[in-house]
Amino acid sequence: MYRIEITSTPAVAGDRNTVGGWPLLDADQPWPVCECGSRMALFFQLDVPADIPTFGGEHLLAFQCPRHNDACLPTAERLPPRYWEQPPAPNELAFWRVLLQRAGVPADTADPYLQPLRLSLAAAEERHGKGSAGVWAFKVGGRPVWSQEAEHYRCACGSDLAFLLQVPENFGFPKRPEAAEQVDTFNGNEYGMFLGNDVYLLACPARCDPAAVWPVNQN
Ligand SMILES: [Zn+2]
Ligand SMILES: [Zn+2]
Repeated sequence: MYRIEITSTPAVAGDRNTVGGWPLLDADQPWPVCECGSRMALFFQLDVPADIPTFGGEHLLAFQCPRHNDACLPTAERLPPRYWEQPPAPNELAFWRVLLQRAGVPADTADPYLQPLRLSLAAAEERHGKGSAGVWAFKVGGRPVWSQEAEHYRCACGSDLAFLLQVPENFGFPKRPEAAEQVDTFNGNEYGMFLGNDVYLLACPARCDPAAVWPVNQN
């Protein structure tokens, strides 16, 4: 697994591992828009390192609506078709979008909410096996460190979703000074994903759709 850290180095167009900045989207992939009509904020994007099983080589982009801040609530294990656009009850609105793509080109403009900063990824060991705790960190690959019971979901295509990335509780992404404060924030200078809950991104190993990713929240 790889630990992910936000550096103080400003990101520029074309950077692949960033908070905010210029999303690298496939040519036929528009910038995600929330059902409320707002263009979503790019929280982070990164190249999944090649030695991460199943998802190595994918470019991961995580977006959330700047006007919606909520938790993604537990639901039935079998997810319905296009759950990333119409999430199953009790969720009402897909205010997030996570994409896995490979052929992205930098968008014309940068995200206007978050400070464009480079991310660094550092390989780290994670012991496996009974009784060994995983690493509690913003990380890609490895295994999830659950705050509560482990959760499992099955994609609409029939594949069991696999763990890809974890964002720990109350992890803040620095906002631009001119950007509005996030609604229901835990820090006026930062934006958080899903109300600051622990976030576990589970993705479809069959990659049936670039957006076939389900965010599990715990606290
Ligand atoms: Zn919205
Ligand atoms: Zn799938």
